[in-house]
Amino acid sequence: MQNTNLLAGRRIAVMGAGLVGSLCAVHLARHGAAVTLLEKRPDLRHAAIPGGRSIAMSLSHRGFHALATVDLEARVRAAAKPKTRRCVHLPTGGTQVQEYGRDGQALWTVNRKELNCILLDAAQAAGVRLLFATAGEDLDVGTAALRLRGPGGEARAEAFDHVIGADGLFSQVRAALRAAGVLDESVTTIAYRYFELLIPALPGGGFRLDDDCVHIWPRPEGLFVALPNPNGTFTGTLFFAKDGDSLFRDDRTAAERAAGFAAAFPQVAELSPDHAALLAANPPSDISTVRCTPWHAGDKVCLIGDACHAIVPFYAMGMNTGFEDVTVLDGLIRECGGDLGAVFARFSAERKPCTDAISDLSLRNFLSIGRSADPRYHERWQLERRIWERFPDRWMPLYAMIHFSRRPLDQVIAAAARQNQVLDGLMATMREPQDHLRLCLDTVVAPLLDRTG
Ligand SMILES: Cc1cc2nc3c(=O)[nH]c(=O)nc-3n(C[C@H](O)[C@H](O)[C@H](O)COP(=O)(O)OP(=O)(O)OC[C@H]3O[C@@H](n4cnc5c(N)ncnc54)[C@H](O)[C@@H]3O)c2cc1C
Repeated sequence: MQNTNLLAGRRIAVMGAGLVGSLCAVHLARHGAAVTLLEKRPDLRHAAIPGGRSIAMSLSHRGFHALATVDLEARVRAAAKPKTRRCVHLPTGGTQVQEYGRDGQALWTVNRKELNCILLDAAQAAGVRLLFATAGEDLDVGTAALRLRGPGGEARAEAFDHVIGADGLFSQVRAALRAAGVLDESVTTIAYRYFELLIPALPGGGFRLDDDCVHIWPRPEGLFVALPNPNGTFTGTLFFAKDGDSLFRDDRTAAERAAGFAAAFPQVAELSPDHAALLAANPPSDISTVRCTPWHAGDKVCLIGDACHAIVPFYAMGMNTGFEDVTVLDGLIRECGGDLGAVFARFSAERKPCTDAISDLSLRNFLSIGRSADPRYHERWQLERRIWERFPDRWMPLYAMIHFSRRPLDQVIAAAARQNQVLDGLMATMREPQDHLRLCLDTVVAPLLDRTG
């Protein structure tokens, strides 16, 4: 993407040097702005990850597209690991494999810290002023004046022309907009929590499970998902209900939790010998969603990423959606000739339907993954892949529209609803396993596609 001078002479503070803020800072600098990237934590590039956590992130087509626009796609792919399918571990001990895409389409796992470091290097190379261990506070949303609290606790005021709030779920920028009466927000914590657990590599190196797959154990006690990392380990995440009969409720002892885990997920417990110690040492985390509107105050302040639309992780799309925000913002800067008042207003109005859509879809996908061991679910997944294979220009499974296309996310919901109608009708005629293989797509399915458009 070509550099411009559309924002030359503007002083822009990006608050939060996480994944989205760092990428956004690169784009703004490429439009000639004087960008300051503020991060309350120390520089990740020289810091150990607290508690040794290594969080694996799934990157899909939307995320890679955003990285490509700042020439980072190849570098990130080199540090990432593709997986083309998911392997569902059945309660009976067997497995069933579900391909994600066609022709080698894959989700890619990348280490969160490594990706963030690549983006920080890119921001530095683009001339962004990086201030670590420096928190932004007391934002005046009418003037974009901000107080910076530095590493020694000292505070100083600094004037900016614009502030971008990329400061995540607990955004201070969003809080300032709310306090000024600019936005309405709803922050919801769902009834599930998560806990991360590492499956180590084999003693001589190498993976303990098929490394081309995301591994899933859907069980009544919770959902365990394991993503392969480039270094031979798997990052596992256990999602479980907070209340009710949950084995992992707050009032269970560490021993009860460990025993419950080993009983519900015996294979995982065997693959991760330290699970009991990890369960005892690391508190589980809540999962929250954020919705708010509008995302901006005039041309002074605008939110981006989790700060305005944190979503549940069941489609692995939070970062991908935040990266897509940056692509959209960049396009609007070009279209509006650098008029940030117009850019922020259009960004907030045009982007929100898409982020609301992926928020809804992500919540629904938790239920969908939970059913993935059901033979009917598997049959439907296979049938849909066959239809896609036969009519690639007229059909794309929901999963693929989200991860392997850049179709606007609000349109994806409507397309999926039309396709689901067709699938529901076809599935009603399937009685035996593998019945879908007997279905003649040209005579039965093609007319249905003609009818539903
Ligand atoms: C379990 C789990 C798994 C996930 N997996 C995936 C996945 O596989 N794929 C995917 O696309 N998404 C995934 N997500 C979502 C993803 O983590 C988020 O969407 C993404 O991190 C959002 O990036 P962000 O930069 O907007 O916010 P954040 O990553 O939260 O970054 C915000 C930054 O702002 C800084 N900050 C906060 N306040 C201040 C302040 N006052 N001053 C200065 N700095 C400040 C913070 O220190 C932080 O560095 C997952 C989420 C969870 C919970």
